[in-house]
Amino acid sequence: MKFEKAVFLRSYGAVQQIKDEKTPQFAFIGRSNVGKSSLINALASKKDMAKTSSKPGKTQLINVFDIEGHIHLVDLPGYGYAKVSKKLREQFEGLITDYLLRSDTLYIVFILIDASIPPQRIDLEFVAWCGEHKVPLGIAFTKTDKKKKKNTEANMLAFEDEISQFFEELPVILETSANSKHGIKELGDWINEQMGHV
Ligand code: GDP
Repeated sequence: MKFEKAVFLRSYGAVQQIKDEKTPQFAFIGRSNVGKSSLINALASKKDMAKTSSKPGKTQLINVFDIEGHIHLVDLPGYGYAKVSKKLREQFEGLITDYLLRSDTLYIVFILIDASIPPQRIDLEFVAWCGEHKVPLGIAFTKTDKKKKKNTEANMLAFEDEISQFFEELPVILETSANSKHGIKELGDWINEQMGHV
């Protein structure tokens, strides 16, 4: 599969609207500002296919991109907006949890974790929630270029250590940087391998 062939397919505001039940979905989620749009764009070698953070308060949608009819990349709304009302936050979170619990074709959701900062409680809680609900998940660290290597590695190790208590076997863990492109090819290769396109 060639990720640069990605095309925007559609947006959904409710899980019930998702009709395609065959194409495997590789989803991406994270706190707002984690670098999700940048990572999806880097994977697809595009400048602005995935739109950088829609402002908190705006409607949050699930955006789906098609890769040559083989898989869909699913851009989920960011979680953990501190500045929106409780009602709006519950609305986004409802959409996210509905999708993760009900999508029949979700192959994996990559939870994006900013490697330039120490483990954040909201991320740990989200990973724990996915684990408890048997949502198929992987971890993709972002922004590995941003801080000194020593600090980045300490942050990633601390995160892995924290989440190891939630799992008997750790989920797949990848390291990426949209800026330096570190790990972007590996992410694409990993997805291809899962689909048997080696
Ligand atoms: P989103 O809200 O999760 O979609 O995050 P964005 O992709 O919009 O990125 C949020 C901010 O982080 C922007 O200022 C990006 O330039 C920056 N950013 C994203 N990826 C990287 C990266 O790999 N390295 C560094 N240093 N900054 C990044």
